[in-house]
Amino acid sequence: MRKNVESGKQSAMDHFDFVIAGAGIVGLTTALAVLRRAPTARLAVVEKEPAPGRHASGRNSGVLHCGLYYGSDTKKAQVCAVGGRRMAEFAAEHGIRLDRCGKVLAATDPAQLPVVERLLANARAGGIRAERIDNRTLLALEPAAPPEAVAAIHCPDTAVIDIQGVMATLAGRLRDAGVRFFFQRRVAGPGPDGAIATTTGPIAAGFLFNCCGAYADVLAKAYGFARAYALVPFKGIYWKLAPASAARVRGNIYPVPDIAMPFLGVHFTRGISGDVYVGPTAIPALGRENYGLLAGARPLEAAAILVRLARLYLADVDHFRNLAHTELRKYAKAHFHRCAQRLMPSLGIDDLVPTNKAGIRPQLVNLAEGRLEMDYILEGDARSLHVLNAISPAFTGSFAFAEMIVAASGVI
Ligand SMILES: Cc1cc2nc3c(=O)[nH]c(=O)nc-3n(C[C@H](O)[C@H](O)[C@H](O)COP(=O)(O)OP(=O)(O)OC[C@H]3O[C@@H](n4cnc5c(N)ncnc54)[C@H](O)[C@@H]3O)c2cc1C
Repeated sequence: MRKNVESGKQSAMDHFDFVIAGAGIVGLTTALAVLRRAPTARLAVVEKEPAPGRHASGRNSGVLHCGLYYGSDTKKAQVCAVGGRRMAEFAAEHGIRLDRCGKVLAATDPAQLPVVERLLANARAGGIRAERIDNRTLLALEPAAPPEAVAAIHCPDTAVIDIQGVMATLAGRLRDAGVRFFFQRRVAGPGPDGAIATTTGPIAAGFLFNCCGAYADVLAKAYGFARAYALVPFKGIYWKLAPASAARVRGNIYPVPDIAMPFLGVHFTRGISGDVYVGPTAIPALGRENYGLLAGARPLEAAAILVRLARLYLADVDHFRNLAHTELRKYAKAHFHRCAQRLMPSLGIDDLVPTNKAGIRPQLVNLAEGRLEMDYILEGDARSLHVLNAISPAFTGSFAFAEMIVAASGVI
């Protein structure tokens, strides 16, 4: 049976109570949350790729964030810390590698001090362990961090996790519970007689959860939703520390972010494999899957994205122009190196070696207000629920976010 399911064959008689479009972390955890509430429900996950986690969920930093970046009124804050704890429990239960290595944030400019205070206030409001530390403690935790940081924060609960292990284990657990997977099949929109249209024919289903990541807005629009938004994808590329330099980073060294932007800034992360990644950038991308310089970009889509970027640039809301200038320059290794050096002054340019690790953030722009959306957006009706703007930390928070998604559907 499993072979049949994985080849995507479907019997004409099949009817599913719920279809989840997208086998990223949001889709898989949503499937699990549906099963928790409705254990006997017939459930299908439909994914356009040959396997789960081929996009953002398999290409991120693998950091389980503690949640201090987000104000308590945001969905991100409501799910990040609790979701991170649940993912850690899931990892422990299934023997998935997790390293609670902690994180330091170092401010390198006095202008960042108000943000440091704001992050600490977020932590207090959210019951998150985060403390201000002096430079001696900073260097004891991360000897390569800037010795003259203006301020620093330590978050002991930040962890890194084996993201591929999480995806594979979740998919296996869902299969064992009877969830049907259809790969290499794209959900296209509403089909005839209440069915769901896909590239290989309609699926009879009661309710659709759209968890399509960078394509979620496209599918949502096919159902009449997401009209207020358009996608501007941002590419995150990573460098790696050469093996001889990797020992200089013990856990995670992060900058103090620009909180007007949904990006955390170039950081150093010791991944679960022991490799130390430096990145990601937040470079405007030319397509939803434009992982290379031009690879993955399609001319029409690229043209539409360029128009949206030009509008953001001209409107300059939240200093977008500055972001565009700063980030585009990071394509050049010398500039990227200078940025990374702010967090690790002893970093030599030859310490950075290229990687092919790159991810795309499915960032939505609010068309009427001309600004980047900072939080998750859920829209839907009696037949579908659309998960929009599932940007970082949607991996960390996914187990709790999925419960929020299922509750928002109102159907179970
Ligand atoms: C560079 C980078 C670093 C990040 N670092 C972190 C981090 O350290 N910690 C953290 O918590 N978060 C991080 N994030 C964010 C995190 O990776 C994402 O928020 C999360 O993976 C989103 O999951 P998703 O399931 O919504 O999207 P995805 O993983 O992209 O899954 C969507 C799936 O839908 C499929 N799909 C699309 N359209 C269709 C269709 N029409 N029919 C069927 N299937 C379809 C796609 O093929 C894909 O498999 C990072 C993101 C990036 C880009």
